[in-house]
Amino acid sequence: MIEREIQVADYVSPSKLGDYVINPYVGCPHACRYCYASFMKRFTNHEEPWGEFLDVKRCAKPLGAKRLEGKSVFMSSVTDCYNPLEAKYGVTRRILEELAPIECRLSITTKSDLLLRDLDLLEARTGMFRRATFAFDGAEESKRGILVASSINTLDEEFRAEMDSASPIERRLAMLQTCHEHGIPTVLFMSPIFPYITDFRAIVERAAPFVDAVWFEHLKLRPGYKEDILAWIHARYPQFYRDYLRIYRDGDLSYWRELGAEAADFCERKGVPYQIFFLD
Ligand code: SF4
Repeated sequence: MIEREIQVADYVSPSKLGDYVINPYVGCPHACRYCYASFMKRFTNHEEPWGEFLDVKRCAKPLGAKRLEGKSVFMSSVTDCYNPLEAKYGVTRRILEELAPIECRLSITTKSDLLLRDLDLLEARTGMFRRATFAFDGAEESKRGILVASSINTLDEEFRAEMDSASPIERRLAMLQTCHEHGIPTVLFMSPIFPYITDFRAIVERAAPFVDAVWFEHLKLRPGYKEDILAWIHARYPQFYRDYLRIYRDGDLSYWRELGAEAADFCERKGVPYQIFFLD
């Protein structure tokens, strides 16, 4: 792993995913095979493959309470702010400390239970928002200033280990449960859903007692990793290979329409709030 520290002008960027996004790092040691953020490599001068370098951002500029008050802030869109090197550099923790007095809607998505190290700071945000109410998509109306989501697309640890280097699934589930027990709104972000492989019913059943909502997102195959994933499916799940070609080479979207209807029906019967982001 190549690590280096870089100076940036600002941690905070405007974002289409909300008002603002904060990415404390460039790169991500979780190295997911399907990483949608791997395009970021071309904005660096790293030769190493995505997942094998990490730029640690250093920034002198304050986050700026004035611009963030009442806004949504997302951590993180193109890295995992709790990648394993956060334990060494602590950039995310320092950003959370600076955000502590700021009444913004902070949402964090991570595949790592290193987040529990910062439970004190996250829990403190649950009492926020004396002045305004906010609704997180798909979750119940919340007056709280924090939401924690974790991406889980399987309960099969072997599959998980072939796909990413983040926390094992049981630890991600335990993290969501701990957050829930501490009054922190939680979301199970079922992403990316692998056609015919992700068992959405089993995952919803498992997590329903401690999540406020489930968000569903389909597997997108971008050019940078499409052929790798298709070759992997061919090797590991040859029975589904033709179906993957139908979806990802022929552009047949009927699978997602049907799965979306099934997921909606299942969540409604179980009384689990949900959002479906298929084909957005
Ligand atoms: S955790 Fe997210 S940013 Fe990191 S490699 Fe995986 S998909 Fe990419």
